[in-house]
Amino acid sequence: MRAVIMHSPGNVSVVDRPDPRIEQPTDAVIRLAATCICGSDLWPYRGANEVDEAPMGHEYVGYVEEVGPDVRTVKVGDFVVGSFMASDNTCEICAAGYQSRCVNVHPMGGIGTQAEYARIPMADGTLVATPAPPEADLLPSYLAASDVLGTGWFAADAAEVRPGKTVAVVGDGAVGLLGVLAAREMGADRIIAMSRHADRQELARAFGATDIVAERGREGVAAVKELTGGLGAHSVVEAVGTQESMMQAVRATRPGGHVGFVGVSHGVELPGDKLFYSAVHLHGGPAPVRRYLPDLMRRIAAREIDPGRVFDLSLPLEQAAEGYRAMDRREAIKVMLTV
Ligand SMILES: [Zn+2]
Repeated sequence: MRAVIMHSPGNVSVVDRPDPRIEQPTDAVIRLAATCICGSDLWPYRGANEVDEAPMGHEYVGYVEEVGPDVRTVKVGDFVVGSFMASDNTCEICAAGYQSRCVNVHPMGGIGTQAEYARIPMADGTLVATPAPPEADLLPSYLAASDVLGTGWFAADAAEVRPGKTVAVVGDGAVGLLGVLAAREMGADRIIAMSRHADRQELARAFGATDIVAERGREGVAAVKELTGGLGAHSVVEAVGTQESMMQAVRATRPGGHVGFVGVSHGVELPGDKLFYSAVHLHGGPAPVRRYLPDLMRRIAAREIDPGRVFDLSLPLEQAAEGYRAMDRREAIKVMLTV
């Protein structure tokens, strides 16, 4: 099969790799319909994480090609969506809704879904099938559910977004934008999107943002405070993962409020005194996308939400390198790769 490999920072190509096979009786093999490039794939691309001949990709939708003898809930031919973390969905951690930290968790990034085929471990616990093959125009939205929508949704949930609340979203990548959409769906009264880019501001408004703050850091916090009677937001979504963005999120939250942080943390160190006097709740981590998938897939099928709009560039898998370049240069918010 053809698959994306990151040879070293900044060096991505599509190469031949062995076709995946059923290795465990609980495995499935899927034929990808579409996959995509994640903001987190840019960390190694830019040299912030070590990378050496790594398979890439952890977001996926596709058709079940083969199942192991113990697989019960999906069958050959089903259209399926799965999380970026494979999970058994039966352990105590999964049962509590934290499938991304399942005791048997298997990160899909290690398998690499930017490929024609992928082995899905623990298929019953990982995959959710649609009742019928989806209409073609819904494919991007189902693909978004695999990570960025589920992650934005978890961030809003972790930030305890509720009807009537004021929400601020730090980060205008796909996850931040879908955090805006999630906040709208959860009934937020006011949604402040923090973004400096006109195209992303426009999409944030389309997803439900009521206010835009272009300033960052201290000025950004001051702008959020000004919009909230000096108090700060009730709920803040952090979708970047840097020291600046995390502190911006903590400072923009009112005492007693909640921060939902989902940006993959890079060099974040929280100063104890600032944290102490902030009096905010912090909850986050790798999103348990599997918890939300059935609900999100139902909303997509019913056309209640259109998260696929975050894909502003679509390329064939063979042109993956061009997709990485476009995301690295911020020429694209998120790149879909069709297979
Ligand atoms: Zn589990």
